[in-house]
Amino acid sequence: TRVVTLVRRPDGEPRTSDFAVEERPLPSLAEGQLLVRNLYMSVDPSMRGRLESTEKHYTHNFTPGSPLDGRALGVVEESRCASVPPGSYVRHQLGWRERAVLDAADTDGADRIDPRLAPLPTWLGLLGQTGFTAYVGLTRIATLRPGDTVFVSAAAGAVGTAAGQFARLLGADRVVGTAGGPDKCALLVKEFGYDAAADHRAEPVRDALARIAPDGIDVYFDNVGGEQLAAALHALRTGGRVALCGMMSQFGGDRRTEGRRTVDINHLIQAVLKRLTLCGFIVRDHDDLRPEFEHRVAGWLAEGRVTARETVVEGLENAAGALLSLLSGGNVGKMLVRLDD
Ligand code: NDP
Repeated sequence: TRVVTLVRRPDGEPRTSDFAVEERPLPSLAEGQLLVRNLYMSVDPSMRGRLESTEKHYTHNFTPGSPLDGRALGVVEESRCASVPPGSYVRHQLGWRERAVLDAADTDGADRIDPRLAPLPTWLGLLGQTGFTAYVGLTRIATLRPGDTVFVSAAAGAVGTAAGQFARLLGADRVVGTAGGPDKCALLVKEFGYDAAADHRAEPVRDALARIAPDGIDVYFDNVGGEQLAAALHALRTGGRVALCGMMSQFGGDRRTEGRRTVDINHLIQAVLKRLTLCGFIVRDHDDLRPEFEHRVAGWLAEGRVTARETVVEGLENAAGALLSLLSGGNVGKMLVRLDD
């Protein structure tokens, strides 16, 4: 099968030449295993850290010469597991390749999805890991309360478009966000239920927040870190809560905001003065919330109360380019790669 491999660890910013598409043999099917043809592959910011040799990550780092992996959705072509017949759709971890052999019994290995409930791409986005991240961050980590004012950074991305819409449905009074460029900001207000949005490349975010959230914020959903986290600390009201989800600004993929990556840690005095709660989280520690999440969000989708949005790049040979594009803001909603039938 064709796979995307890491040729070498990037020297600075990753380039498409750091990746290759190669042919690799597939193992034969053992009892309890499935042969899956991948249809959609998830492209995730966390892959950036996994390209490095030293950076500690919450899952294994990639090795030069070996295939990349990541979340994907595919159709079962052959099965040696009676409960998952050919034709079933499964979500699993062996993306970045056309076909994969998976253990059906392994809970991480193959998670069956119902394509009648939502279109396939939605199962990797709004109803997938990024939607779930938004849900966990708002409900369990930031304990969103009715009437709150919520600020979301990287608001036009996969987690951000979910977080803004969910915050509104969960009772937030005002939802504001930041994104790169005027077009994304307009979309946030028009399509994703944000009350106001600001371009983080056009002005200091502290000034933007004073304008779009003049009375302050109660919750900050942080996808970015750096300057935006510092700005949020100043905008938060007493008793405010921060869900620390990710740190896009630290990857360095966007040269336009490079100067704003490093901030003085003493901005944290705001947390003391205002009794703030800052809490980091990794979504996979919260799987107990998944049934509640899927039930609620599938309901919202069926009622037309939320919009699932994806940016879809075609073909395995363009997958590395999709990752580089994601890191520099080339996506709206969930970044996916679609594989040819
Ligand atoms: P996104 O779809 O949000 O894509 C990343 C976006 O980050 C880009 O579109 C770009 O948008 C923005 N960005 C890039 N560089 C910068 C910068 N220097 N400053 C500000 N924004 C920047 O990705 P995801 O929705 O998949 O992930 C969002 C965040 O959530 C990431 O930090 C990710 O690591 C984290 N995450 C955490 C999980 C957890 O368990 N804690 C699970 C899943 C995701 P723009 O054009 O608007 O700048």
